[in-house]
Amino acid sequence: MPPRPNIILINCDDLGYGDLGCYGAKDIRTPRLDRMAAEGTRFTDFSVTSALCTPSRAALMTGKYPGRVGLAAGVLRPDATNGLAGSEVTLAEVLKPAGYAIGCIGKWHLGFVKGMRPMDQGFDSYYGVLHNLDHWETKHFEKDGGMPVLRGDDVEKRPAVPAEMTGLYTAEALKFIEANRKQPFFLYLGHAMPHLPFNASPKFKGKSQRGLYGDVVEELDDSTGQILDKLRALGLAEKTLVIFTSDNGPERNTPGSAAPLRGTKHTVYEGGLRVPCIAWWPGRVPSGRVCDEFVSTLDMLPTFARLAGTEPKVQELDGFDISSVLLGEKGVRSPRTTLYSLYGYGKNRFESMREGCWKLHLGATPKLYDLRSDLAETTDVAAQHPEIVQRLSKLADEVLEDMDDKAKPSRYNQQKQQKSSL
Ligand code: MG
Repeated sequence: MPPRPNIILINCDDLGYGDLGCYGAKDIRTPRLDRMAAEGTRFTDFSVTSALCTPSRAALMTGKYPGRVGLAAGVLRPDATNGLAGSEVTLAEVLKPAGYAIGCIGKWHLGFVKGMRPMDQGFDSYYGVLHNLDHWETKHFEKDGGMPVLRGDDVEKRPAVPAEMTGLYTAEALKFIEANRKQPFFLYLGHAMPHLPFNASPKFKGKSQRGLYGDVVEELDDSTGQILDKLRALGLAEKTLVIFTSDNGPERNTPGSAAPLRGTKHTVYEGGLRVPCIAWWPGRVPSGRVCDEFVSTLDMLPTFARLAGTEPKVQELDGFDISSVLLGEKGVRSPRTTLYSLYGYGKNRFESMREGCWKLHLGATPKLYDLRSDLAETTDVAAQHPEIVQRLSKLADEVLEDMDDKAKPSRYNQQKQQKSSL
């Protein structure tokens, strides 16, 4: 293992698989991220567990399926009193005992009440808006003078203005790196953009060929470039792992793109689940590599723990240590072979189960796709492979066994009843 690195995890909100130049976008310029990919590794099969902000972040922060931590589906609105329980072990709480300074900047979306906020979940510092910026939030905070930007638990500024968020978060990130340059640090930077209502600062407005959405992504590109420049200037580049990714695919009815994948946020198609992921650590993470190993946000927690030289004291982890994949050890394959995904409850429930190249969409009429030849999930081959449909259905039920009851579909409960009456 190399000496333990600083770790910066940049998580965009609703950025699509096809939104960056290095992932094929032709009408959005992302020279800084393209350079980051050229100097590092670009993953082409990196998936979140749910195409929705809250469950996706729950998995990232705990290394567990969101249904295991009570956040299987649904998004937290600002009046929510539920969220990620204080008893769950977060990325911050894993890295803290290893001597890391731990900062959280940006969108949290895992609980807004005392006991569930970043500072209660292992982070030393927090700056940002805890939740979304859309109309539920605008309305909720209207009487108080607008949405609060917090520093720690205190309101620093009102109202939060979408066009300012990327600039504010970037400035905070640079300050955090500067202040903690002499010790190992972990920075979680959860951008508010390009989630609706997206907006860019004047410097970027009207510049891209994909309208305002493209401007917003170009500003995120510039933000990441500033962070990498700061690391270089402080002599920290070779000591810092930076990961750039997104919490889920693009929102419907926005110019966000998941090309060449099918589907968007709010689905279990690859376009909702598969997101950009660029890893950069000069001299450690191979440069100029495109890695098609199957990995997930679930794998971040055990991987960061390994790199930090600590053991995650977590029961029932669903993530794997993928450090050997990240570091490009010769011939190493990802330990991940499966991934369960869930979106929604009741009639609006969608579920999928992946095993290697096979992707099963569960439901009354299950549909099976072979991602090797059909990445866009257009040709259902369930009829030709009943044994694979059966195997993947069983795998999904095994994952569901450990989830909270709300996450279990009616078919699961019916099967259980049938079994117990035999
Ligand atoms: Mg999102």
